Amino acid sequence: MEGKMQAQLFYGPKDVRLEETEIPQLGPGEALVKIKSALTCGSDLKTYRRGHPTMIEEGSVFGHEWAGDIVELGDGVEGFDVGDRVTAMNSAPCFRCYYCKLQRYSMCENIVYNNGAYAEYIKIPKNILAINTLKIPAHVDYKHAALTEPLACVVHGVDKSNINEGDMVVINGAGPIGLLWVALTKLRGARVIATDLSDERLAYARELGADYTINAKETSDQVGAVKALTEGGRGVDVAVEATGFPKVWELTTLMGRKGATINLFGGCPSGTSITIDTGLIHYSELTIKGVYHHTPHYVHKAFQLISGGLIDTSKFITSDMPLERLVEALELMGQQKGIKYNII
Ligand SMILES: [Zn+2]
Ligand SMILES: [Zn+2]
Repeated sequence: MEGKMQAQLFYGPKDVRLEETEIPQLGPGEALVKIKSALTCGSDLKTYRRGHPTMIEEGSVFGHEWAGDIVELGDGVEGFDVGDRVTAMNSAPCFRCYYCKLQRYSMCENIVYNNGAYAEYIKIPKNILAINTLKIPAHVDYKHAALTEPLACVVHGVDKSNINEGDMVVINGAGPIGLLWVALTKLRGARVIATDLSDERLAYARELGADYTINAKETSDQVGAVKALTEGGRGVDVAVEATGFPKVWELTTLMGRKGATINLFGGCPSGTSITIDTGLIHYSELTIKGVYHHTPHYVHKAFQLISGGLIDTSKFITSDMPLERLVEALELMGQQKGIKYNII
């Protein structure tokens, strides 16, 4: 499709401008989508505040959680038609590299991220259209389908965390990702302790089923406060970090019982490091792990959770905002007001 579209372009930290730009042109196997919903995300907020390693170019489109209608198809596309309601992930594995052969698809060496949800149109590249694009059933709203991408990351994280029925799980951070963790951990039949600095966010956590909440501002001993909620004060079965601050990564490693699984999920600024008590890891036989991104399997699982109504997606979307007000929505997120905003 020839012509211009409105898009929010990232020029540098705190410099995002609504401009006219070219509608993306399609090659073989690609699709053009008119965006109906784009959700704000913590990683977009990070990009807005401090830039992003994959967005060095001036005037880049950004935003990666979206849903919309296919309006044009490149040559040779099979399985999709103009008019289909779809959501697509921001990447897809190549299935050829070393890590793909190990089935570690989130580590794919040929991942190319597709951004550009804060615009009128987005192009779906060939491999993402073939592997990680989903048709939205009629009963699911665009904005709820757009939650598939972040949910897929969290389904991946939960699946790798050894959470069993009846377990006590602490989730540090009640931002959008931490709250998705709360909802999915409750689905696993575990008890949840949510911690955050914001009473508003902790109230969301309780709405989503958190059994206990701790405002970290109100205690000088966050680790002790978490352990005090576990039997015998021994610590939680699973401890999850969902803030992306090295200090909280360190605290999270201290909250588990012997043999606990510690999932350090929130991405920290690059170049940061943490200190861990070696004796604690050795004598307590902790499993400490990182989990990154999603795979086609977890994308499929996340989409099933949404389309099957197993997760109350409406709770994660605070309000609608027009494309012109994207910066305001990101600023609100930065002030920890609301969860996600639906940019239309
Ligand atoms: Zn995201
Ligand atoms: Zn690969």
